[in-house]
Amino acid sequence: MMSNEAKENFVLLIVDDNAENLKLLVKTFQKENYTIEYTDNGKAALDFINKKPFDLILLDINMPEIDGFEVCKAIRSQSKFKNVPIIFISAESDRENIIKGFELGAQDYVTKPFERRELIARVKTHLALKRNVEKLAELNQLLEEKVLKRTSLLSKALEKAEESDRLKSAFLANVSHEIRTPMNGIVSFVELLKKPGLSGEKQKYYIDIITQSGHRMINIINNIVDISKIESGAVNIKIQKTHLNQILNYLYDFFKIKCSKKGIEINYSGDLTDDECIIDTDKDKLVDSLTNLIDNALKYTNEGTINFGYHCVGDTIEFYVSDTGIGIAKEKQAIIFERFVQADSSLTREYEGAGLGLSIARAYIEMLDGRIWVESKLNAGSTFFFTLPLKKSGNYEPEISSPQRLSNTLQPINILIAEDDLLSIQYFKEIFSDEKVNLFFANNGKRAVEIVNEIPEINLVLMDIKMPIMDGNEATRQIKKIKPKLPIIAQTAHAMSGDKEKLEMVGCDDYIVKPIKEDLLFEIINKYITN
Ligand code: ADP
Repeated sequence: MMSNEAKENFVLLIVDDNAENLKLLVKTFQKENYTIEYTDNGKAALDFINKKPFDLILLDINMPEIDGFEVCKAIRSQSKFKNVPIIFISAESDRENIIKGFELGAQDYVTKPFERRELIARVKTHLALKRNVEKLAELNQLLEEKVLKRTSLLSKALEKAEESDRLKSAFLANVSHEIRTPMNGIVSFVELLKKPGLSGEKQKYYIDIITQSGHRMINIINNIVDISKIESGAVNIKIQKTHLNQILNYLYDFFKIKCSKKGIEINYSGDLTDDECIIDTDKDKLVDSLTNLIDNALKYTNEGTINFGYHCVGDTIEFYVSDTGIGIAKEKQAIIFERFVQADSSLTREYEGAGLGLSIARAYIEMLDGRIWVESKLNAGSTFFFTLPLKKSGNYEPEISSPQRLSNTLQPINILIAEDDLLSIQYFKEIFSDEKVNLFFANNGKRAVEIVNEIPEINLVLMDIKMPIMDGNEATRQIKKIKPKLPIIAQTAHAMSGDKEKLEMVGCDDYIVKPIKEDLLFEIINKYITN
């Protein structure tokens, strides 16, 4: 087998046992700049096709031993040659053989003696056809891959949509259950409370249940508000100097009574001394996250111990909250951080909750460049870990007060604003928008008294004096009768001398002059809330 290289990319294989013919063919196509491979027998042709690639074959039919038909069959038997054109070279008289050749899979034939220009044109056409067929096949392949990819994306999206639909339904079922249960508690125990001749002890018991139910409702509503804020991107990070040991202390004080009521021991520890433990982070989000985890530890533990605290690990702080509770099955450990997901989603589940606490904690921690995970064993207990970057802060100034903001309380402050002027209401909404408060509004004194009755969690009232139906003086008198210790701050339009004394007579604890200055208002609220 001899070979002859040319610049053209196409390789032509020419097979003919007639030396004259072969020479002529080779010469003809060399001139056309093809790469030419040629041989004068069928056996060498068969050897060649199994070793080297080629784009077209010009094949003589009548050859001794292995003829053109055999070679044609061998080519067509391999799928890799399915697009390679086979052109038979035959004698004028060879009609029958030409038909047989077509039946065996040849594309064309030329008769000897051949017309040079016609043969070149035929070869060119078949090569162009071959190239187009291959391109089409390539495009087809690409298209198929794209379709497959799209189909898989679509089916994933569909799965996700179905999953999110399922979660939404589960969430709605859960939330309505979570709200309805305490609501039923409130409504039915209020009815019981109306019964005449109840003993003081019974009254106190009923009121305790109503208060607990109210807390439970506020808790779930706060969770829903938090998750909506997270999802709409409305949560801002407020980095401030944060005293870790103080936070642990707060949380310990906050949870120790609840724990001891359930017979559970609670301990805490931190690696750093009081002087070293001040870091720059979002204190509220850190406290919220730890509160959520300890709340869960308490909820899902019936006996044993809760330990919480932090260790320094390289340039991060690793917080932990561990319990000896019911534990979480391995396959549930990753998904419980998704919103609305609970390890036990059965209708008969034992523990209340909407499945939002951990997703809120995870969102906060990730916003602060940390990560959260759990290690747990069913019926043995769980340890939740999360990290925060260890960004040590220099000097600690516990009250950063420029401009004056509300003190950081563990729970949001519930403020009732009795006000009938829409612009003032808007103003309050604005100035409290970055604070950890829940605002309640009453547009007259009568409604303010009702709200204080309905919502025992109200911590403070901002009372406008001039209001329709019932003015602020009368409302204050009535509220003080029900709740003498609830701080009421009057908002007065004119600070005339003697106003303050008058307000104290009707029972307000303090007053602030309109137009209200934000920092002065915060200062007054801080005075009553921290007290
Ligand atoms: P919720 O407690 O309101 O259901 P969370 O998002 O706080 O929602 O927790 C999701 C789920 O993770 C819970 O329903 C519970 O199944 C599981 N879980 C969370 N904390 C613990 C824990 N300390 N021990 C056992 N299971 C837990």
